[in-house]
Amino acid sequence: MRAVDLIRKKRDSAELSREEINFLIAGYTNGEIPDYQMAAWLMAAWIRGINRSELAALTEAMLYSGQILNLSRIPGKKVDKHSTGGVGDKTSLILAPIVAAGGLTVPMISGRGLGHTGGTLDKLESIPGFNVNLDLDEFFNVLRKCGMGLIGQTTEIAPADKKIYALRDATSTVENIGLICASIMSKKLAEGIDALVLDVKTGSGAFMKSEEDSVHLAEIMVETGERMGKKMVALITDMNQPLGRMAGHANEVIECIDVLNGRGPADLRELSLELSAWMFYLGERTKSLAEARRLAEEMIASGKAKEKFKQGIRLQGGDDRVVDNPALLPKAASRVDVTSSAAGFITAINCEALGTALATLGGGREKKEDTIDHAVGLEFHKRIGDRIEKDQPLVTIHYNRGAKLAEAKAQIAGSYHIGDTAPKEKLPLIRRILGA
Ligand code: URA
Repeated sequence: MRAVDLIRKKRDSAELSREEINFLIAGYTNGEIPDYQMAAWLMAAWIRGINRSELAALTEAMLYSGQILNLSRIPGKKVDKHSTGGVGDKTSLILAPIVAAGGLTVPMISGRGLGHTGGTLDKLESIPGFNVNLDLDEFFNVLRKCGMGLIGQTTEIAPADKKIYALRDATSTVENIGLICASIMSKKLAEGIDALVLDVKTGSGAFMKSEEDSVHLAEIMVETGERMGKKMVALITDMNQPLGRMAGHANEVIECIDVLNGRGPADLRELSLELSAWMFYLGERTKSLAEARRLAEEMIASGKAKEKFKQGIRLQGGDDRVVDNPALLPKAASRVDVTSSAAGFITAINCEALGTALATLGGGREKKEDTIDHAVGLEFHKRIGDRIEKDQPLVTIHYNRGAKLAEAKAQIAGSYHIGDTAPKEKLPLIRRILGA
């Protein structure tokens, strides 16, 4: 087999066999196939698309390029949640302790923020001492002791994806539903889980802006997981405005602690409970979804989820005193409001631009190597449909010296659309549920 023939085949819209895909992925991972040939194949695949059987072969080839975690020595079911990402999307830090406190194991291999979206690992690293770089043995021990662990991708997990994702990033071949599905699912299936709950975001702050694209991505991810014997469900959820009231790493940790204390914003609490309930249900911890929801609520009301969060932080080297004393988290030196230039109703929000504004302040990265400021953040005062008066605050910026404040302010001010009447329809937080 030759890579050049497989590039030509894809270029001419022919289907690649499983053996051909295995050859391509193995050859690229071990360095026999050079970047330029893989880049050409990826672009051909981006333009021509990959069909269902190619997707299955691609996901499996990427999955088996590395290790699959064997968690069979830990009793009970293992479940995870994956979100396609957005602004203020922090549910992992809430649902992992809820579900672990309720008796299941949650092995989470998470990502960092890139562009306008935040990443779970960056949020956790705002907790002093928290180590997301455990090796697989350490990760196993943390999971065995407390039922939850959150780490970054290691060199052992889906190394093909690590290499291919970097190449896609540099060749404008990220935004393809088949390639995204293979990339995400190869990593998630390597976690050794029994069930996976997907939170597929849709709207102005999501990767997929249209509900149609979000549903398509959700369908193929559910199908891919089910084919590999996993219980799957996908919730299509709204990302036309930030989730919760806070964006920025330390600020988001504080908001998660609020929810674990039985408080916090209604949308964040609702989505976290609903995703937790699906995890309990798919993990066969309860017989019905209603019972699962009650269990999730009980884990918060009893304080067990909060205690589990503290234990998880401790076991990964972090300072668990932050849970009772959030003032120990990094704090920005200054605050300033962005106010409304007119009176009226919030009719729409460019949520991606809000995420970009956070990155402009130093709270996100443009390139993988960039460092971030965990203390900076945005506090949102208004949601779609809310009434606002002229000069009332829309957003409070938490910033440090040297931040590109004027640029961030302009990005935020331009994100809010204000009209004379409130939008007629209130978009539900959970749009659709697929699978299960
Ligand atoms: N996240 C991933 O892990 N892979 C993609 O392709 C897109 C988002």
